[in-house]
Parts: sequence; structure tokens; C-alpha cells
Amino acid sequence: VFNFSAGPSTLPVPVLEKAQAEMMNFRGTGMSLMEMSHRSAPFEEVLHNAEADFRALLGIPDRYKVLFLQGGASTQFATIPMSYLPAGKKARYVITGSWGKKALESAKILGDAEVVWDGKSGNYNDVPNDLALDASDDVAYTHFTSNETIQGVRFSTDPNWGGPLVCDMSSDILSRPVDISKYDLIYAGAQKNMGPAGVAIVVISDEMLAKGPDGLPPMFDYRVHAENDSMYNTPATWGIYICGLVYRHLLDTGGLEAAAERNDRKAKLLYDAIDGSNGFFKGHAVPSARSTMNVTFTLASDDLTKAFLKEAQAKQLDGLKGHRSVGGCRASIYNAFPEEGCQVLADLMRDFASRNG
Ligand code: PLP
Repeated sequence: VFNFSAGPSTLPVPVLEKAQAEMMNFRGTGMSLMEMSHRSAPFEEVLHNAEADFRALLGIPDRYKVLFLQGGASTQFATIPMSYLPAGKKARYVITGSWGKKALESAKILGDAEVVWDGKSGNYNDVPNDLALDASDDVAYTHFTSNETIQGVRFSTDPNWGGPLVCDMSSDILSRPVDISKYDLIYAGAQKNMGPAGVAIVVISDEMLAKGPDGLPPMFDYRVHAENDSMYNTPATWGIYICGLVYRHLLDTGGLEAAAERNDRKAKLLYDAIDGSNGFFKGHAVPSARSTMNVTFTLASDDLTKAFLKEAQAKQLDGLKGHRSVGGCRASIYNAFPEEGCQVLADLMRDFASRNG
């Protein structure tokens, strides 16, 4: 089965095989890692290696902390304004789709959050690659979503906005190189490109970390997690282990430059099928904002969409139904999704269009 689900998503086969081989007896310990204390030497090594490999992949400078947390990306929607949006300052939110709106919802409860760009008029089919935002004393941070999972739009480069920059990278982290030095805080749920659901990763600069207020409940204080090396509470041990295997696999297969090339090639197969269909399939995103992770497209009617999805299912192409806010279809093709699956879908799209166009 080719799993086009938006998440949780496909994991690399070699990672699943290694996890299976180590499941019952973790590296000669006679126990499963799932049963082992998070303070044990084997788990500490897993955590240490996962962090080191993650840092190596993204080229993260020493002046940033890397935290492995729980609560998904959604908890960070609240922890960030709780920590870095003091009274008297405002946060700028750039809204390019559904997840940015959710982040904004939490920020508005906790402080003064201002929308500086909103793609609503185009039903979130574009991103403001050319938006200029200068630093200002009254701005606590600017928040954006590098890839909007539901709409399938992404920023083509790291924005050059002034002031502290915060980014939700849940659906495209590790899909391409990133210039970490442009950011003060990056966060992501693991379940698309990194590992199983249950792990959220936060990369935060020491400068940002120091701005946190006193008096936060410890679980919502990134400093507490940093001081305790992500072990203030019991971490998601198994999930972190799988993330670590994914990082190693990515390093062994050429790092993020190579991952980006694979992802561009995979996405091109689908966008070429859309563009070559004489309008039978319509891409939701404008070409300059097209995501390489979530390819969104519609057909002319609900009946055609249903017929297409039925044929796709018969060919073992699973999870292609689009989100109701966009309609049509969405092919989520994260890092571990095989190129062969994109080819099978592109072939079906051409064949279906020629029979029904
Ligand atoms: N942000 C983006 C871009 C997402 O795609 C998702 C989930 O799909 C989330 C946030 C929410 O993540 P979580 O379910 O880990 O809270």
C-alpha cells in the first residue's frame, strides 16, 4: 500500500526493520527499550545520539537547545505566547493556512497577537514570499508556518524578517536544508518526517530561552526542559528512539540536500501530471507556493473526485481524500514516501483524465 496520509505517515523501511529486530532485546540488554528506565545508560545514549544526529542534519549551532517534548506541535501553539509574549508587546502572525490559524487562536487567548498577512481571500493558495517585516521594539516575535499541511502551500526560502522569528515546521522539517541562524524558535510534531506521533521537537536559541518569564508551570517552561536535558518528566522514549533511527537513516542517505532533491523529484511527478492535464486536475496552490510535501488538487465535480478516489484505492493508493476546506485530493509525500508511489499516482492521473476528460 502507498500511504498518502497527511500524518502519521510512512517511515523508512530500513528504520522499521531495525526497530523490529531490536524490539524484544534492545542491543543485548535482554529488555525492550520500551520497558527500560529513561535514566538508564542505553536510553541516555539513544537520546544523546538522536540529538547529535538531528543537530548534524540541520547544522544547528551550539547556541541553540534541542528539546524532545510531548504534547505535539499544538501545545507549543500555547507555550510560545505564554513564554515570549509579555504584556505591552505584540506578536505578528503570518497566516497561510489552517495550522497558522490554530497557532493564532492560542496566542490571542494569551496576549496581543496581530495578523500581518492572511491568505484567506485566495482560500490559502499562496504565501507572501516577498513580505517585508522590520524589527521593532514592540514586537515580541513573528510566527509563521513553513508548510501548510492542509492547503499544500510552503515558503520557498527562509524569510528575512526582522526581530525574533518563530516557525512551525511540523510538516516539512528535514525535507530540505534550513538556515537555522535566521530563527529563534522552531518546533514540529514528529509524525510526518521524523518518527511516530508522541514526540514534539523544539529548537530554541539561548537568547530566546533567557526571555522566558518566571512563574510558569514547569511543564510549560522550556528552560526547565533544557536544564533537564528533555527529561524533566518521562520522555516519549520509544518515539525518540525511532526519531533517532530516522535521523541516522537520513544522514546515511546524503543528508538534507539529498532529501530535498528526492522530494523535488517526487513532487514534480505529481505537479507535471496536474499541469499536463489541460485543466482536468487543478492545483490548489499557485506554482510559486507549491509544497513538496502535500500536493493538493481538485477535479471538476464531487462525482469525478469520488470515482478517482475509488480507482486510486483499488490500486492500493491510500489516504488521498483532500481536507474538506480545500476539497478534492491531497497527496502527502513526506521524506519516506517512495518515488515509485508518486509515479503510480501520476500514471493513474493521466489515465483517468484521458478516460474522463
Ligand atoms: N502544525 C502543522 C503544520 C501540522 O501539520 C500539524 C498536524 O498535522 C500540527 C501543527 C499539529 O500537530 P500535533 O498534532 O503534533 O499537535
